[in-house]
Amino acid sequence: MENSIGNNLPRVKVQNQFSIKEIVYKFGPISRIEIADRLGLTLPTITTSVSSMIKNGLLKEVEQDHSVKSLGRRTMLVDINENSRRFMGIAIRGTVRNGVIVDTRGHVLASLRDERSFSDYEASIKSAADLFSSLLKKANLIQEDIFGVGLTMPGIVDKEEGRLIIHPGYKWKDKNVMEDFSSLTGYKGMVSVENNTIARAYALVMFEGKVLEDADSMAYMFVSAGIGCPLLNSVKTHFGNVTGDGEVGHMIMEIDGDPCLCGNRGCLEAYSSEKTIIEKANKAMKEGKTPVLSSIYEKKQFLDIADVLEASEKGDEEVKKIIFKAIRYLGLAIANIENFVRPEYMVIEGKIFDVEENRKVLMNVVYKNLYRGTFQDLKLHFKSSDDLSGAVGASAVAIKRDLESFLE
Ligand SMILES: [Zn+2]
Repeated sequence: MENSIGNNLPRVKVQNQFSIKEIVYKFGPISRIEIADRLGLTLPTITTSVSSMIKNGLLKEVEQDHSVKSLGRRTMLVDINENSRRFMGIAIRGTVRNGVIVDTRGHVLASLRDERSFSDYEASIKSAADLFSSLLKKANLIQEDIFGVGLTMPGIVDKEEGRLIIHPGYKWKDKNVMEDFSSLTGYKGMVSVENNTIARAYALVMFEGKVLEDADSMAYMFVSAGIGCPLLNSVKTHFGNVTGDGEVGHMIMEIDGDPCLCGNRGCLEAYSSEKTIIEKANKAMKEGKTPVLSSIYEKKQFLDIADVLEASEKGDEEVKKIIFKAIRYLGLAIANIENFVRPEYMVIEGKIFDVEENRKVLMNVVYKNLYRGTFQDLKLHFKSSDDLSGAVGASAVAIKRDLESFLE
């Protein structure tokens, strides 16, 4: 195992190599001198390490842009050789599994989706294993071509052990995800397991880091069936460190409030999750208050969040009220997080915020509830929702894990 090799090497050598990879990943193409400057290491140390990583295929040399320097000897820069490796990411949820194969920069090369809905863990992990095989086939690859697999799940994950500790919503508890996946697929490479929202946050830092401008800390609010908001520090020059579990979905917003699936009352998810919004819209529909939604339901015989949003936009006032109420609680939660932690950047992803009007309603609530109204300090970025974002997040976890392992 690569980890046991790492343990026998001087720690500093292992750490230096990872730091170089991280700097090249974040700032490449970059010169060897700049890497040395940024890390406070000597140029010979960088040169030796970079040469072995070029030989290994992880890094590549690129010529500096002609328009920058046209005179004299051209400086050769170093960058990640994105085509040298392939990774797989699979986002596992009871309702759907999405999988992608990506290059080292997270560009999607193949994707697949399994929309069968399962309530039990065993069927879901089996579906993920099947997705693994079908994706390989689709991309014309074999298991050995994949440098690492990332799996994500909602709920609390022990990433060191590759276990799901608990997902209250699904009633899944203490599952050895890494081991189950490896034995079902026979895959011998590294399998990493991470919470689905934390993984999305890593993907943003690694693949779209530029949107964060110069921020060094970030909160990532993800509104889906559940609601998560992990906090990452040190994202300016690193991939980031996660603080806490980010389970804001169970932040209590009302004393003796509505019951939540976790067993408590008044949790944010009991007001603002997609699941709650759909349930409330369904109830209003049964009471005959939502003509647009009813006509959508007549055709489909079921409702998802896109249908509810469509009904709201096409004039169902009752549905709009339900959505706005959910957004009020989300705005309060965001203001609370902002008042407490003050992250330099806040990213929000959720299908309900693909609607411009909903973004505005949210901003108003946040603004009203910020301590001393220091709104100008808050940088907010709405990330358009994307069915593959969970799987891409999972692939980021696999790539990060691969970069952390030592190359001889
Ligand atoms: Zn709860």
